[in-house]
Amino acid sequence: MALMTPPRADLAAARRSLEGLSLGDAFGERWFPLFRPPQQARNEIRARRTPPEPVWHWTDDTAMARALQRVLDDHGEVDQDRLATCFALTYDIDPARGYGHGMHILLPELLTAPADWPTLAPELFEGGSLGNGAAMRVAPLGARFHADLDHAARQAQLSAEVTHAHPQGVAGAVAVAVAAALQVRGGFTLTTVADRTPEGPVRDGIRRAAAVPFTTEPWKAADLLGNGQRIRADDTVPFALWTAARHAGDLEAALWATAEGFGDVDTTCAITGGVVAAATGVDGVPARWLRSREPLS
Ligand SMILES: [Mg+2]
Repeated sequence: MALMTPPRADLAAARRSLEGLSLGDAFGERWFPLFRPPQQARNEIRARRTPPEPVWHWTDDTAMARALQRVLDDHGEVDQDRLATCFALTYDIDPARGYGHGMHILLPELLTAPADWPTLAPELFEGGSLGNGAAMRVAPLGARFHADLDHAARQAQLSAEVTHAHPQGVAGAVAVAVAAALQVRGGFTLTTVADRTPEGPVRDGIRRAAAVPFTTEPWKAADLLGNGQRIRADDTVPFALWTAARHAGDLEAALWATAEGFGDVDTTCAITGGVVAAATGVDGVPARWLRSREPLS
């Protein structure tokens, strides 16, 4: 069967977003204790000192975003069984990309029984994962379907359910996809995102973020909104979208501000990067950043 490009899909916007997502992921990963002690990391972020390592590897955020992108390229929309297969194969090829605990359980199971995601995903953590996994990979989907916000939200929901069955895991994905779509359209505000996010703690957090002035120091905003340390969507998405909205025209500034929040910094930077770059692309960041990021293909 011939592959079809879906109607109203903006492949260039999706690619810009994926580039930004992976750049944020790889940049954010540099600040973990594996690479430099926390106090040194804080000082270097404050001084805006670019990590000197020659290669910045991307992590599970990018691996899953690419898998989702492949399914959308091939099918034009989220085919959940195919997506389960693609996530499982991606994990099987390279499981050492920093996946969360739940994915180490679920993805090997999906490799042998991908069609069982409707029963396996909700069994995680008794009610399904409400972690960041669905939110961190979804910005390019929102960019791709920006022409129709309802469609973008629905596709984000479908993409989340395969691994993150908890309603708040899904809500995190919807919020990030809508933010990326609005960023491409030129109407990205936190209030607009909150209005289109399913009710619950993620939406409440985005509403709180909308009330935090952009003159607030990022570390202080992270104190108020969460920084992903609790590895939950409602602890991660509000701050990552706040910095994205604060620096919607400047990807480099957005990523530094997100890094100032510390916490689950590869994931917060992946979310921020995916949203901001959906409009800006990555051309504005220093060339050294782009050379250091592990290539995408
Ligand atoms: Mg990661």
